[in-house]
Amino acid sequence: MAKRVNPMAVKANATYDVFEAAQALKVTPATIRNWIKDGMEAMTSSKPHLILGSAIREYLHTRYAAARRPLGADQLYCPSCGKGQKPLERQVTQSAITAKTDILKGACSRCGGTATRMISHQQRQEFAATFHISAERNSEA
Ligand SMILES: [Zn+2]
Repeated sequence: MAKRVNPMAVKANATYDVFEAAQALKVTPATIRNWIKDGMEAMTSSKPHLILGSAIREYLHTRYAAARRPLGADQLYCPSCGKGQKPLERQVTQSAITAKTDILKGACSRCGGTATRMISHQQRQEFAATFHISAERNSEA
């Protein structure tokens, strides 16, 4: 079930429908649909739904990173540090990446690199209590 797939099996610049993605990654189409439900970015306005290879890679990287090292409630994932870190001064920006998912971005308090965390819209309030969240495009609110 928790079989690990190779994100590099898809080309970053290619688009895939559910079946093509499943074939490339050697998983079932149902698995791909679950990933979309789980927040993987897909062009769901088109039929069949198309998924960008880069979105598949990003989703899998985030998923595996999260599985390896669970993030603390006040942490984002820093790829440079390879683990969860607190964002500098708890400042993060928030932008919607799908109809159900947001990405939080902040500066890693340890290395200064960009740290990110995917959250569902249901988690917005929870994280708003932890971080100082601003919208992606600088509105000094
Ligand atoms: Zn870092």
